[in-house]
Amino acid sequence: MVTSIARVALSVPRHEPFDYRIPESMSHQIYPGVPVRVPFGPSKRVGWVVELVDHSPHPKLRDIECRVPDGAELPADLLGLLQWTAEYYLCGIGEVIESAVPRPVRNRRIRQVRWVQLTDEGKKIDPQDSGGQARTKILEQLGTNTDPIPLRRLIETCSTSESPVKTLSRLGLVEIFEGLPPEFGTPGTENLEPPPWEQPPPFEPNPDQWQAIDRINSCLESAEFRTFLLHGVTGSGKTEVYIRCIQKVLEKGQGALVLLPEIALTPQAVERFTQRLGPVAVLHSMLPDTERAVHYERLRRGEVRIALGARSAVFAPVPDLGIIVVDESHESSYKQENSPRYHARDVAVMRAHRLEIPCILGSATPSMESLENVRRGRYEQLRLDSRVNGRPMAQIEIVDRRSESVGKGRGGLLSDRLVERIRSTLGRGEQVLLFLNRRGFARNLQCKSCGYSVHCKQCDIPLTYHKKKDHSQCHYCGERQSVSDRCPRCKFGGLRQRSPGTERIEKSLIALFPDVEIGRLDRDTVTSSARMEAILGRFRAGKTGILVGTQMVAKGHDIPGVTLVGVLDADIALGLPDFRSAERAAQLLCQVAGRAGRGELPGHVVLQTRQPEHYALLCAARQDLDQLLKEEDVVRKLLKYPPHGHLARLLCEDPDERRVIQSAQGLVDAMKECPGDSVQILGPAPAPLERLRGRYRQHILLKCTDRKPIRDVARIALDEKPKWASTRISVDIDPQNML
Ligand code: ADP
Ligand code: ZN
Repeated sequence: MVTSIARVALSVPRHEPFDYRIPESMSHQIYPGVPVRVPFGPSKRVGWVVELVDHSPHPKLRDIECRVPDGAELPADLLGLLQWTAEYYLCGIGEVIESAVPRPVRNRRIRQVRWVQLTDEGKKIDPQDSGGQARTKILEQLGTNTDPIPLRRLIETCSTSESPVKTLSRLGLVEIFEGLPPEFGTPGTENLEPPPWEQPPPFEPNPDQWQAIDRINSCLESAEFRTFLLHGVTGSGKTEVYIRCIQKVLEKGQGALVLLPEIALTPQAVERFTQRLGPVAVLHSMLPDTERAVHYERLRRGEVRIALGARSAVFAPVPDLGIIVVDESHESSYKQENSPRYHARDVAVMRAHRLEIPCILGSATPSMESLENVRRGRYEQLRLDSRVNGRPMAQIEIVDRRSESVGKGRGGLLSDRLVERIRSTLGRGEQVLLFLNRRGFARNLQCKSCGYSVHCKQCDIPLTYHKKKDHSQCHYCGERQSVSDRCPRCKFGGLRQRSPGTERIEKSLIALFPDVEIGRLDRDTVTSSARMEAILGRFRAGKTGILVGTQMVAKGHDIPGVTLVGVLDADIALGLPDFRSAERAAQLLCQVAGRAGRGELPGHVVLQTRQPEHYALLCAARQDLDQLLKEEDVVRKLLKYPPHGHLARLLCEDPDERRVIQSAQGLVDAMKECPGDSVQILGPAPAPLERLRGRYRQHILLKCTDRKPIRDVARIALDEKPKWASTRISVDIDPQNML
């Protein structure tokens, strides 16, 4: 029996592919990975064939209309990866393809155009002898430059029609060929740049770097899958390791994929790779759609062999991929926060595994999950323990906000000590970076006087205070406690707190330092990558004396003039109702501290807190995460949090508060009926962000030591979905965000 049915992935949330009949006439053109046009309801849609089958449970199938001409085919290995992603994260294959393939490519708005070029014969002939006015004009136009010209433009410029061009082509004087439209550049000119590895390297790697490079290269030679955790302090030269390994891959004629967090994909970072490796395709969400599509197509056609991009670039169509690099691999932004909720770091490792190639996860502050994988022998750790050229790490000074006096009108976050430091730094002509991690959400209960912070005994996360209802609640298990305004430890009255944001700090700074240019980098001032570059550009050029910002300033920027970094309120990160808050806080502080003293001058960090004895801060201050992680590990093991257990989070959202509680409870009841009790079901509890964009939110946590039972239980919840049609229900496997 012949296979006559194609399963087609359409972009419909969490849906199986749809079955269509393959008309006899198309049977040779239709196979997995091919884009097709199909009827869908009253309209037509483009989708991708994911599988061919003999039978369908559906009695009445419609026909595939056609294969999309020139459509972007998904190579088999990539299609396999996309299918794995849909399966593992419990989402629809169509949704996964949608986030992997840029919109213009999906909608096939990129058409081939015809180009015209002189042949060798055509170059020799005198245009006057070509036998006609139009032909002469055309040859003259083409002769002004050796590059090909789009046919349409040529006709327009010469005010003629297609026919004389065709005649010239028949005479062998010009060549007409199909190529990408001019936005993609002129065909044949991309490869004029010299092979990048012939450029002299700017410096010789140090022994630590060589050791890492050699180890990874030996894996490249034997073409084996291995995940390396390149654990190197900030400024230890990890990028040089990536570059050398990628050069090796290019020499073998293969391609490379480099992932960076969105925010780190500045033109500066792109240039660093381009200078050493030649042309790269850049893929990230701040690029306009068509530009992304251009880069995507170049990769797919093998014209560019290196993809550099953010999260979704993990699905970049690099032919013959030889290595994957995930820089800053601890970053939670690698996890997509809406469907499909994949983790690009984990997908990257899976992709490397399927292709049997090495994967490098770089970080100064690896996640506990990655370190646990090292301990279990799944990853191999390579360390770069010192900064290049022996530059010292920044000195970290902890300022105790409980005792330090803070002048009036400074919002309580510019201590005398810090102001004094800023003044002397500016006095030496150096620059200051101030960091305020304000997520708009941090009403945890912390005593202003002694720094005590109230936690849930069962879940070990900070309790959140609800002013209206006047109680505090654990947002994992739902348990409530009434609190008096008096601190249980020191009896100080006034547990409630509010802190100012970056804008307020900027105002205070302007008043304190009227002659200094002050910049601000946060979601309000950064509306595009160009805006961000403009603000950072002024800072890099030394025009801005003080830059104040949110987590955006914490990462990736390499500005030699910065010698003082101030962390205005280290307690905010510690107070988030998330079991990873201590780990995250320490990582963030190490990253911020890594911004100080990247140039020749030594750096200094001032860290303001009300909990100077908190182990996460002490460890961050010593830039020693190992100790912190050891302590964290005990708690994680006890409560079976990752990396010693697995989690899934079910989120219910509904404009009606009563209904959302009902549906969340309904899901829990259904899941509890399922046999097997290896999965612990926590909740339903209100999500820490209880209301968002007009919807009430309840969440349920699933916890288990194995991965599979969690997905089985979560599937039950998804099957219940139709019963609660008005409630939006989503599943997050391996969640990173618990808000
Ligand atoms: P990381 O990514 O680990 O934070 P980078 O790769 O950005 O560190 O390196 C920090 C700086 O040191 C960069 O300016 C880089 O050009 C330089 N560098 C890297 N390796 C060497 C080396 N072996 N010798 C001299 N300079 C180096
Ligand atoms: Zn709890």
